[in-house]
Amino acid sequence: MSQTTTPTATESVLRQICDELLNRQRFVLTSHARPDGDSIGSQLALAFTLEALGKHVRIINADPAPEHYLDFPGMDRIEIMRTVPADLEADAVVVMECSELSRTGVTGFDNRFIINIDHHGGNRMYGALNWFDESAAACGEMVFDVIRGLGVALNAEIATHIYLAILTDTGSFHHSNITPRTFDICRQAVEAGVNPAAMARRVFDSNSFGKLKLIGALLDSMELIEQGHLAVLYMDDAMLDACGCTHNDTEGVINLPLTAREIQAVVFFKVSADGTVRVSMRSKYDVDVRLVANTFGGGGHKNAAGFTTHGALEQVKAPIIERLVLAIREGLETRPEA
Ligand code: 5GP
Ligand code: MN
Repeated sequence: MSQTTTPTATESVLRQICDELLNRQRFVLTSHARPDGDSIGSQLALAFTLEALGKHVRIINADPAPEHYLDFPGMDRIEIMRTVPADLEADAVVVMECSELSRTGVTGFDNRFIINIDHHGGNRMYGALNWFDESAAACGEMVFDVIRGLGVALNAEIATHIYLAILTDTGSFHHSNITPRTFDICRQAVEAGVNPAAMARRVFDSNSFGKLKLIGALLDSMELIEQGHLAVLYMDDAMLDACGCTHNDTEGVINLPLTAREIQAVVFFKVSADGTVRVSMRSKYDVDVRLVANTFGGGGHKNAAGFTTHGALEQVKAPIIERLVLAIREGLETRPEA
């Protein structure tokens, strides 16, 4: 095998991204609407890093973060808006975790110098610089490489957000795209001061009583299909109201059915009064729910994907369930030994 010193495509785009970050001064960071732990962690880790270099940073998101993230460092500085002012001063906009620019839910970024950093399949390469790595377990893994490329040492805040991104986006180290590198980054985060037990408690054990009630109601009305391989969850505004919950309280609930051995995939239908149906899916091993989401205009990862549709639940659900059953049958054929 011949040796080469030519940088790989990844090394080359990573270097270009670091050079642009070093050469520019004012940044806006953003991520997807309805932020999750990876979008929050990736943005805040990069914000603290750029500030360590003396840069000016604003973070703009379409939606507020779920409540249990609000105590994490720097959360109070995330600005919530759906349109950015035309005179926004930014030498570059760093978009993380978004396969398309529209996933930000924020308008007004179109004519900016955009740096696109993402790990979702099917990224549309909408930036001036695009770094897309589907093999990353979390966007936070990629941000970690940027931080290293910039030569900034992990401090407690940066390490906390990198760990948050990885902990949440791997589904607490459950998903299939976890590699030795994932643990190496976590090791470095722990060395920089992260307490894994405290992080797990803060992220996963901070439910309200209302959320526990909601979990009860959702599991009570769960349907099992295909010899119990597929679990179907339903929720509407009336259920939320009855439990005193908001949409943010549904985060993570979808993973619960997967704790049953037989269940290979879960689909969660969240019905809104305006006829919008949010469809979230989770799966085990090689059951590929991203392919299912793609069929219906959405995206995500093999084990976690979603999309939005419209109409009466009774009409929309049948083709989705049918497609999921196919994905389960295909995935089970390649099921590894536990
Ligand atoms: P969730 O079920 O938590 O909303 O989303 C799971 C995964 O699927 C996330 O990685 C998310 O980015 C992706 N996803 C969810 N909804 C959509 C969508 O409408 N379009 C695309 N492209 N990805 C989505
Ligand atoms: Mn992610």
